[in-house]
Amino acid sequence: MKQIIDRLRQNRDLSDGDFLTLLTEIGEAEKAYLFAVARTVRQSVYGDDVYIRGLIEVSNYCKNDCLYCGIRKSNQKVSRYRLDEKTILSCCDVGYSLGFRTFVLQGGEDGWYTDERLVAVIRQIKARYPTVAVTLSLGERSEDSYRLLFEAGADRYLLRHETIVPEHYQKLHPAKMSLKNRIDCLETLKKTGFQVGCGMMVGSPFQKMEYLIEDLRFLQRFNPQMVGIGPFLPHSDTPFGEQSPGSVELTLVLLSIIRLLLPSVLLPATTALGTAAEDGRERGILAGANVVMPNLSPADVRMKYLLYNNKRSYGSEAAECLNDLKRRMEHLGCHVVVAKGDYKYMP
Ligand code: SAM
Repeated sequence: MKQIIDRLRQNRDLSDGDFLTLLTEIGEAEKAYLFAVARTVRQSVYGDDVYIRGLIEVSNYCKNDCLYCGIRKSNQKVSRYRLDEKTILSCCDVGYSLGFRTFVLQGGEDGWYTDERLVAVIRQIKARYPTVAVTLSLGERSEDSYRLLFEAGADRYLLRHETIVPEHYQKLHPAKMSLKNRIDCLETLKKTGFQVGCGMMVGSPFQKMEYLIEDLRFLQRFNPQMVGIGPFLPHSDTPFGEQSPGSVELTLVLLSIIRLLLPSVLLPATTALGTAAEDGRERGILAGANVVMPNLSPADVRMKYLLYNNKRSYGSEAAECLNDLKRRMEHLGCHVVVAKGDYKYMP
């Protein structure tokens, strides 16, 4: 197993057979080795810095009906909200004073957020805080729309591919959504000039280990600047409410593998990981992640953006509790930094 891990580090690649062995047969001691190697590689690019991103959940309206997602259109129990420009800007004010230099505007696919409205809010944020990065995570839009948002000053875009296997994608999404469109959007975002993030859920219903290997191959080909992965967690008011959650352990192993495949990648220890295990974020950092995304949304809407049951948005998940997060990171030998935290291009 150690040889496989060393080979992965050296070649940034493995055969499918070796990937499968690594994903299915790794033992505890070998995991500790894998995580340590991933940390060394992260350190060689980013030192001990952990970047923080202020997550503003701008809307839980969504025109899509993804079978796993708590804010899917068909979920009648959701109390819907959207934040207006003034509210988003006041979240940024709070975030900036806490030391955030990236704001992530994430939401369901909500038609209220026209290009015009988004361009206005991005311009306002950039005018007020010229040194911050604006990241968008607002789903699939047209090429023209992505271009307008980029020209308005947005720097990064997160759009998880969820799974790279078309039959699997179709089982997780309604018929009118397609993997092809998702991948086209990712290609367009890259071409437009965004730093782009993709990623998959770990342990989503119907997933096979072979599919995850295909996902890793896609990450190698696409070479994104950011990769967001987290365990699938069920939401009781969705068709997948009775399904088992994804594995924390497998998510950690995948984080390390991704760090070794793409040494410079910006890799968050996600909220889903922090929800699935109390110490999930710390363990994510120890497995090679270098980003955390505390919640900056107004307190009164946080419980309404429930993608899965028991989603954490308080404690060290909350931007107000940054000192707690800082302490936790220091404990691991890492430092939360006040920085835009761009991707580092390596030779
Ligand atoms: N609408 C945008 C999009 O589709 O990219 C952004 C918001 S969407 C809610 C953000 C991510 O949440 C999805 O890409 C998905 O991976 C994740 N997510 C949704 N439901 C989840 C669940 N039940 N468990 C884990 N992750 C989930």
